Amino acid sequence: MTHRVTLIPGDGIGPELAEATTRVLDATGVGFEWESVEAGESAIAQYGTPLPEPVLESVRRNKVALKGPITTPVGGGFRSVNVALRQALNLYANLRPARSMKGLETRYEDVDLIIVRENTEDLYAGIEHMVGPDAAESIKIITRYASERIARYAFEYAVANDRHKVTAVHKANIMKLSDGLFLESCRTIAADYEGRIAFEDRIVDNMCMQLVQKPELYDVLVLPNLYGDIVSDLCAGLVGGLGVAPGANIGTLAAVFEPVHGSAPKYAGLDKANPTAMILSGALMLRHLGYPDEALRLEVAVRDTIAEGTATTYDLGGSTGTRGFADAVVERLAATPAAR
Ligand code: NAD
Repeated sequence: MTHRVTLIPGDGIGPELAEATTRVLDATGVGFEWESVEAGESAIAQYGTPLPEPVLESVRRNKVALKGPITTPVGGGFRSVNVALRQALNLYANLRPARSMKGLETRYEDVDLIIVRENTEDLYAGIEHMVGPDAAESIKIITRYASERIARYAFEYAVANDRHKVTAVHKANIMKLSDGLFLESCRTIAADYEGRIAFEDRIVDNMCMQLVQKPELYDVLVLPNLYGDIVSDLCAGLVGGLGVAPGANIGTLAAVFEPVHGSAPKYAGLDKANPTAMILSGALMLRHLGYPDEALRLEVAVRDTIAEGTATTYDLGGSTGTRGFADAVVERLAATPAAR
């Protein structure tokens, strides 16, 4: 069977990571037909917009996309394509695993966290305005519907993946209405899983300190959009940095798999960036498509390549390029027989 997948190479280092990742995914033996579409800076010249309709059409049709990072101008300029894509396709759950790997110099060796970030509302709704010339207002939207939906996703993920605890992260002591509603929604859903999955909550600032000091105490974290974005980078830092942090955006009608990191423009075209995060996002995609054995085989090939340490990229202390790392993973896959 061949899976048609929308490929969005993106900006900066995106195209070279996409090339490396599709080559590795093809080497797993799963059949893919890559439908490549342009979004981001490269789309503006051709379509006059960074998120042209053919991109959304393609993802809606194929239901699955693999995406590289897309540059978002700071301050002025167009709105984030990444946020717009998640909102347009209602990709409500952002899943970001952070797991220690052998061979990486990090403060801890046994981090195994799952970050579940609400992906459609909060301050990312993008509702901002100036109040006169010298003040600006951003509106934070939290609804019971979206909060209960993301909490249920986190608990269902815990059940399906043999996890034991969900921690809701918030600032309900200060934002009593918005974060208060998020926490109340998590508590409502937690009641349905009582006796099966433990539940607790943490205030976000304390959570950051606890994660830095005792990450082993935590399992699945569920957070509103902004805290989820920030805490997932913190967790990426605990396990070796952005170069190794994968992600998935899941909705009811489509799913988009992408690394946590951005377009790192200063490394664009230099064959330097680490493709691990995008390759591991590809492994999450394999699971989503129903290939858990192939996903595991790919994850093991990546982990073993990194543990061996002779073909790692600059960010992990090595001197191999993007292509060289992908070659090493492909070689390892060829040496590991497929389970089926
Ligand atoms: P970034 O993730 O691009 O870079 C942060 C740091 O990590 C840099 O030092 C970079 O060189 C390094 N880095 C990132 N990915 C790497 C990789 N694969 N291998 C090795 N090193 C890597 O973050 P930034 O500089 O804040 O953002 C750059 C652009 O990316 C911005 O326009 C931002 O809006 C955008 N962005 C896009 C996404 C997305 O597409 N989902 C996510 C985050 C940022």
